[in-house]
Amino acid sequence: MKAVYWVRDDLRIHDNRSLSEFAATATSGVMAWCTTPSFSRANPIRRKFILRSLAEFRKSVENLGGTLLVFDRPSPSVLPEVAESFGADTLFFTSLPIHEENSEERAMGELFKGKVRADPGSPLLHPADLPFAPANSPEVFTQFRKAVEYRLIVRPEAETPKVLPKPGSWSSPVPGWDPNGEISVSGPSERITPGERAGILRLDYYLEGSNRIRSYKETRNGLVDWDDSSKLSPYLSVGALSPRRIYFELKKYEKNNGANDSTYWLFFELIWRDYFKFISEKWGAKFFQKMKTPAKTWLPRDPAADRSLHDFECWCRGDTGDRFVDANMRELNATGWMSNRGRQNVASFLAKTLRVDWRLGADYFEKNLIDYDATSNWGNWAYLAGVGQDGRDRVFNTERQAALYDSAGIYRDKWCPLLPT
Ligand SMILES: Cc1cc2nc3c(=O)[nH]c(=O)nc-3n(C[C@H](O)[C@H](O)[C@H](O)COP(=O)(O)OP(=O)(O)OC[C@H]3O[C@@H](n4cnc5c(N)ncnc54)[C@H](O)[C@@H]3O)c2cc1C
Repeated sequence: MKAVYWVRDDLRIHDNRSLSEFAATATSGVMAWCTTPSFSRANPIRRKFILRSLAEFRKSVENLGGTLLVFDRPSPSVLPEVAESFGADTLFFTSLPIHEENSEERAMGELFKGKVRADPGSPLLHPADLPFAPANSPEVFTQFRKAVEYRLIVRPEAETPKVLPKPGSWSSPVPGWDPNGEISVSGPSERITPGERAGILRLDYYLEGSNRIRSYKETRNGLVDWDDSSKLSPYLSVGALSPRRIYFELKKYEKNNGANDSTYWLFFELIWRDYFKFISEKWGAKFFQKMKTPAKTWLPRDPAADRSLHDFECWCRGDTGDRFVDANMRELNATGWMSNRGRQNVASFLAKTLRVDWRLGADYFEKNLIDYDATSNWGNWAYLAGVGQDGRDRVFNTERQAALYDSAGIYRDKWCPLLPT
């Protein structure tokens, strides 16, 4: 079998079922990464994180004898030509529960006349192991969690390939792209080392290495200490780390050191991540059509629109006058990172206090978060704006939140210092 492997948000060799199947069944093969609409929308910090993770993955592929081509064009304009010239009859990839990506998957399915081998590798739980069909996923998180916990099945990790199929003497008709130019441009100092190796090291460090997992439930809302939460999300977002690897390492840790509320809570958060993936899959096009309308059409067409745009721009810059909100937005702008507590507060502030259309905020996060994940981002935003599956009206009192989570003002002083009067 001659195959093309379409590289997506699965930049890892470990526990990558699609990759293992490609390695086991293709007689010759070539791997290809193409830009996506979301990548094109990203700011330089996120782009660099993705590209550096990709560069490391490419090295790992080459070490296993494979070839990974990188294209500065979207997949529909590249893969058909590559596949035809290579004479490929099968396409392998990891499927993603996101409408924009699903349309590309369908187009590829037509091109390969159904000869596609797709694995849903990004959630912790395999859709076929859920106690309900994904199309019937419970709408409310607690119901979803209870149902999946009652009959929990986590599939073992896929075997790591020892060697990858080669393309032989074939060369690509489409010119490749060397992202090294973009990678080497100096920018803000990187807080998060990209790539699969760094993801696995971070996981080891957070569990056995530092034991910070033991107090995770108490510290996870912290704003200043980097180890207050796991910081695994950037790796999960590009697929450099598998959620199953986290789960099984967590189980190993519990066996060696004992389980507690904190070890359970990391698992609980991974279930939140899955919940948004399955809800997104359930609503498919409808869910994302509603959410992915181009930003400018969201602005209200009335005299208040100018005010709304002005408020939104102040929010983006971290210039609203609310120091807690501003500190969080400035941290995001400078580093690509914001804590979960910060995200909840700034989202509530935009949607509920400033009454700006929440989708502008979600769109801004998509461009700027280093760990941007479509389903977690849009799902959390909808949840906080009160338009998601759970329509309760939550409003965060940012002053109270600042007093609770930044009582000494260290975080605000760091990112939004008071100017001398
Ligand atoms: C408005 C808003 C937007 C968000 N956008 C994103 C996003 O684009 N990408 C993203 O990965 N997360 C997003 N989150 C969820 C959450 O804030 C981050 O996953 C978390 O802050 C990442 O830090 P961590 O890895 O240290 O998390 P930890 O607290 O250590 O949690 C471990 C893992 O559990 C998952 N997780 C934790 N909280 C959530 C949650 N509320 N929803 C879904 N999964 C969760 C993540 O994969 C995370 O890496 C968003 C939350 C809000 C409120």
